[in-house]
Amino acid sequence: MNSILALALALTCLVSASAQSRDRATFTVGTATASRGQKAVGNIEVPAGSDGALSIPVAVFHGSKPGPVLALVAGAHGTEYASIISLENLIGVLNPTEISGTVIIVPLVNIPSFEQKVPHLNPIDRKNMNRFYPGKLDGTQTERASFFITRQVVEQCDHLIDLHGGDTDESLRPYSYWTKTGNEKQDRISREMVLAFGLDHIIISTDRPKDPQASRYLENTATTRGKPSITVEAGYAGTVETDDVSALVNGCLNVMRYLKMLPGSVTTIEHPVWIEKVVTLTSEQTGLFHPLVKRGSYVGQGMKVGYVTDYLGKPVFEARATAPGVVLYICAVPSMTKGATIANIGVVAP
Ligand SMILES: [Zn+2]
Repeated sequence: MNSILALALALTCLVSASAQSRDRATFTVGTATASRGQKAVGNIEVPAGSDGALSIPVAVFHGSKPGPVLALVAGAHGTEYASIISLENLIGVLNPTEISGTVIIVPLVNIPSFEQKVPHLNPIDRKNMNRFYPGKLDGTQTERASFFITRQVVEQCDHLIDLHGGDTDESLRPYSYWTKTGNEKQDRISREMVLAFGLDHIIISTDRPKDPQASRYLENTATTRGKPSITVEAGYAGTVETDDVSALVNGCLNVMRYLKMLPGSVTTIEHPVWIEKVVTLTSEQTGLFHPLVKRGSYVGQGMKVGYVTDYLGKPVFEARATAPGVVLYICAVPSMTKGATIANIGVVAP
C-alpha cells in the first residue's frame, strides 16, 4: 500500500466517523442549522433542472446531549395523510433540550402530490418518489429530490424511519417492514426498532436491492449504507384517524426510547404477526370494483375478495386469493383498470 492510498483511506475513515459524529456543535440539514439544545427549521432546496425547483421543508432537533441521529421522513406519497400529520404532530411535541442525539424530520417530501391531490406519483414528472433512490443530480424533479435527500438526510443519519400509509385509493391495515440484510448486527438493531415501533403486523422483507447505488427505496438507501432502518404504514383512503396518527407518533417516540434518545422504558410488541411474503392480486379487466372483504380480514386460498363489473353492471372479473393470509390493503374506490392492484395479501410466516 502506498502512502497516498494509506492517507486516502485514513481520511475516508475520518469522514465516515465524522458523518456520525455524536458531538457536533451544530447540525445542518438544508437551510436549517440547529445548535445543541435547539430546534431549527428550513428547507432542503432542490434546484431547477429539466423541470422546476422544489423546496422540501425540514426540522432539525439537535439534542442537548450527544447520541444517535434519527431521520423521520413522510409524504413521499403526498396523499398518505396520516403519516404526514403524524410528523407534523411530532415536530410540535419534541423538545430538543430533552433529546440525546439529533432528530431530522421531513414531514412532506412530495409537495406537488399533496397540493394537487395526486396519489402515488409526483405529478411534475409522473414518477414514484419512493422508487428513484439514491437519485440523480441531472435527473427529473423526483430524481433530483431523491439525490438531495440521500446526501442531506440519509448520509447524515444513523437510523431512518420512512412513514407511509394507504393512499387515497388503498384501504390499508397498519403494518411495518423489517428488512433482513444478512448482516447480523444491523438486522438485530432494525428488528428491535420495528418491535419497539409497535405495529402488530410486520413484513419480513428480503427482496430489496443490495446495491447502494441502485437502492430504489428510501429505507433501502439507508439500509444498504449500513444504517438500521424501517418502513411503517398506517392510515388509509385519505383519512386522518386518531388511532393511526397515535400509532405512528407513539411508534417514533418509542423507537427514540429504544435508541436511548429519550428517557423512559421501551414497550415492544411481544407477539407480532410476521409476514413472510406479500401476494398482489391484480385486475384482468377495467371497470367498477366491488370489494367483498375489509382491510385486515383473513382470507383462505381461493376466497373471493372482490369483483369487477363493466360500466353497465355486467360482472367481468372475479378476484380470488391466490394464497391464504391477511388483507394488508384492498382497493378503496370503484375505479379499476386492467393490471391495477386489487389487494395485497400478507402470507403469515410459519
Ligand atoms: Zn407510500
